Amino acid sequence: MRQLAVVGAGWAGLAAAVRARQAGESVQVFEMAGQAGGRARRLPDTAAAASPRGLALDNGQHLLIGAYRETLGLMAELGIDLSRALLRLPLRALDPQGHGLALPPGGGRLALLRGVLGACGWSWRERLALLRASAGWALQGFRLRHDCSVAELGRGLPAGLRRGLIDPLCVAALNTAPEEASAQVFLRVLKDALLGPRGSSDLLLPREDLGALLPDPAAAWLADQAQPLSLGRRVQALHPLAGGRWQLEVQGPQGRRERHEADGVVLACPPGEAARLVGPLRPDWAAQAAALTHRAIVTVLVATEGERLGEPLLMLRDGPGEPGQWIFDWGQLRDTAQAPGAHGLWAVVVSAAEPWLPGGLPRCGQAVLDQLAAQAGPLLPPADPARPRRVLRVLAEKRATFAATVGLVRPEARILQGLWAAGDHVAGPYPATLEGAVRSGRQAVNGLRAEGIPPGPGARPALSRS
Ligand SMILES: Cc1cc2nc3c(=O)[nH]c(=O)nc-3n(C[C@H](O)[C@H](O)[C@H](O)COP(=O)(O)OP(=O)(O)OC[C@H]3O[C@@H](n4cnc5c(N)ncnc54)[C@H](O)[C@@H]3O)c2cc1C
Repeated sequence: MRQLAVVGAGWAGLAAAVRARQAGESVQVFEMAGQAGGRARRLPDTAAAASPRGLALDNGQHLLIGAYRETLGLMAELGIDLSRALLRLPLRALDPQGHGLALPPGGGRLALLRGVLGACGWSWRERLALLRASAGWALQGFRLRHDCSVAELGRGLPAGLRRGLIDPLCVAALNTAPEEASAQVFLRVLKDALLGPRGSSDLLLPREDLGALLPDPAAAWLADQAQPLSLGRRVQALHPLAGGRWQLEVQGPQGRRERHEADGVVLACPPGEAARLVGPLRPDWAAQAAALTHRAIVTVLVATEGERLGEPLLMLRDGPGEPGQWIFDWGQLRDTAQAPGAHGLWAVVVSAAEPWLPGGLPRCGQAVLDQLAAQAGPLLPPADPARPRRVLRVLAEKRATFAATVGLVRPEARILQGLWAAGDHVAGPYPATLEGAVRSGRQAVNGLRAEGIPPGPGARPALSRS
């Protein structure tokens, strides 16, 4: 049995470890943090009953779509009950006035046609322009000869359509402003969502915290297979051995130094750390990884006195003084019998949040409260001074995703013999998403196995210690 090592227990590393084990390999996962999940994790300080409103909180609100086939497949393989873990809704992008696109169930071209023709609050000019544009993109196979920005892609479309649909979808999917976001990556996501199998365009809203969604079940599954995660262990350096085998220098608890050998390594840490580890071995690969720039995401948790949105998810109009783009009603997502604190709790997502960071998070939180008051409508109750809303917490991830900019070149999965990269940043069709991470993890293991490196001598548990 080969002994593979996985560096990082984010969704990419966990997907890689499960895949490796399913393929009959022995696998050791080194994770520098005290828990798995990476950028999609439960906050450890909120797991206890003493957490705000008795709820486990995440590092940031997430949303999946039906086109995340590998992620959903992995969750199902781990025995996760998808209908309990995720609320599935046909694609809806409705604002508080109830205006916007709401597809009928099923997805596909017919649902898109019916949804666009029936879109509330759109003029006929806007509806026909969207149908014409999507037919044009479909005719080109959703491929562009030359990449351009999403803003350029939408140039011929009515301004209301750009502001009311294209720009919010772009920021949600790519976490990159339309002026710099890659139209090619955007079209690829649209293609998979709109033209994929039934249900691909559905929105899947987490009903549980992110830890319960995948990292906990994956860690439990691996432990069941006698492959527990090695938490609190940071890989400090990688040294090539003969025949595509590797030695890992690991810093363990209390600064203890360990050395492990492996018959293949999946490097599933973020691009900056991957560049540090790979720099001495493949400077060109490391330079590409290090050149990626990042964008922030802020999630503002708003506590209300039991208020309810007209939909579990609404789109907000953002602008210079208005940070939020989407609002999730946890009262309609979490099981309020088990977690009554979810009742009346809203999560407002601020993607591409750089403009809001210098002013400080409290200011961003206040701006969200003002925005909610200003944009009230039939689906978003007006602010009531007798029932004040307050900001429960503002969660900021400064390096949430890489910026999916025009013409971006991402590092390849194969680094050297026996050393493969995984992670949302690795070259692939998707922007920085859970699906991109999971796909890359599985792809790295398939690549490693195809290299056919034979098991090294005694390549089972931790081999040597210094
Ligand atoms: C606030 C926020 C909102 C988001 N919203 C969405 C969304 O709605 N939908 C969506 O699809 N995606 C979303 N994303 C993106 C998604 O979370 C990421 O694409 C995904 O989690 C990346 O997973 P990963 O495994 O590639 O990397 P990571 O999650 O970064 O995992 C890397 C792991 O490696 C570990 N590590 C680093 N260095 C070392 C080392 N030397 N040794 C050992 N371990 C190491 C880290 O601690 C980490 O656990 C969001 C991200 C954020 C932050």
